[in-house]
Amino acid sequence: MSLIVQKFGGTSVQDINHIRHVAQRVIETKKQGHDVVVVLSAMAGETNRLIKLAHEANPDPDSREYDQLISTGEQVTIALLALCLQSLGQPARSFLGHQVKILTNSVHSRAKIQSIDATRIFETLKQNCVVIVAGFQGSDEAGNITTLGRGGSDTTAVAIAAALKANLCEIYTDVDGVYTTDPRICSDAKKLDKISFDEMMELASQGAQVLQMRSVVFAAKYGVKLVVRSSFNKNEGTLICKEDKPMEDVVVSGITLDEGEAKLALRRLPDRPGVASRIFLPVAKAGINVDMIVQNISADGFTDLTFTVPSNVLKETRKLIEKVGSEVGFDKIEADEDIAKVSIVGVGMRSHSGVAAKVFETLSQNKINIEMISTSEIRISVVVKKDFGKKAVMALHKAFDMAQV
Ligand code: ADP
Ligand code: ASP
Ligand code: MG
Repeated sequence: MSLIVQKFGGTSVQDINHIRHVAQRVIETKKQGHDVVVVLSAMAGETNRLIKLAHEANPDPDSREYDQLISTGEQVTIALLALCLQSLGQPARSFLGHQVKILTNSVHSRAKIQSIDATRIFETLKQNCVVIVAGFQGSDEAGNITTLGRGGSDTTAVAIAAALKANLCEIYTDVDGVYTTDPRICSDAKKLDKISFDEMMELASQGAQVLQMRSVVFAAKYGVKLVVRSSFNKNEGTLICKEDKPMEDVVVSGITLDEGEAKLALRRLPDRPGVASRIFLPVAKAGINVDMIVQNISADGFTDLTFTVPSNVLKETRKLIEKVGSEVGFDKIEADEDIAKVSIVGVGMRSHSGVAAKVFETLSQNKINIEMISTSEIRISVVVKKDFGKKAVMALHKAFDMAQV
């Protein structure tokens, strides 16, 4: 008998009708002879609603209480799905993160999963039950509830699939799979039949919302067979898999737009050993992901340092840097949230030259100014003014011939 983990996102569980539809889909899978573990998100919009409430109650919410609150959306959907399944004659049991021992570190709102105890899940499956687990949450050593960052239910699903050695992990969402870019930006975006782990990691880390980045990291590390597909139809989805030869022929597989980043610039920073580490160490310790670091050439012993961080941690990052500011000594710190990061990704970039030149030419033809640039072996990212983000994605999608024909 095989074991399948199925994760349904917010739009797939947005009301009782949708949850009933999920129940029917799960029963179909069960009838095909598989054991099923379901991971659910909160109803669409619910986590946003809870986040807003937290900030209304306290503009600088305590991180423990914040997680205690924003993790509750998933408790509602898992219990409702269990009730729907039972009403259709299918035994089912729902579990919160701590009830199946999803142990995380203590970094609230972006906690990392450290282990999952599969015992209770296996025991429940043995009773012919569908197991339903709340996505997005875990608990730390001290028993505090933690959350895994926005989109974290994807990571719950893949981590459970890895812990149970499931045969397949299906991520059900509101699109048919992974597209060449967000179909909400380019209506002619093309669905990909498969994409490599490396490309998907880059796309996810650069803002392709369809999968949370850590879910792809887990899948690659533990060899989880991972598929993204729609909960609204039976179309075949996108397989995230190891790279194969033909993938290299495609120069650009995907384009992302990230409007959730902010830029921080430190002006007139002393240019001497140890300064960068003094700045970035406390930021790293707080679990904040810094991206696109650019340091100018030094003039008379001083330099400017610019980097991007997710907007939702801008305040926190600024506070951390201001703390070390007096030791390090810089003139001022400037924040800019009016930015968008556009990235093109493809393993084909390793073997094709002139890709960056084509990106710059395309943006220049569209009169879009580039504020920052960063590259990896398989990615080129640029920061532009927020208003130009979508235009840049559309222009690049066209320039690299990525539309469906
Ligand atoms: P869920 O609630 O099911 O987790 P999300 O909203 O988190 O769904 O992710 C699905 C959304 O991701 C899609 O509706 C789509 O607009 C967006 N998206 C961004 N980039 C891509 C991409 N390259 N391929 C598919 N969807 C994408
Ligand atoms: N409900 C959480 C969120 O909105 C987790 C998820 O949906 O994956 O971010
Ligand atoms: Mg999601």
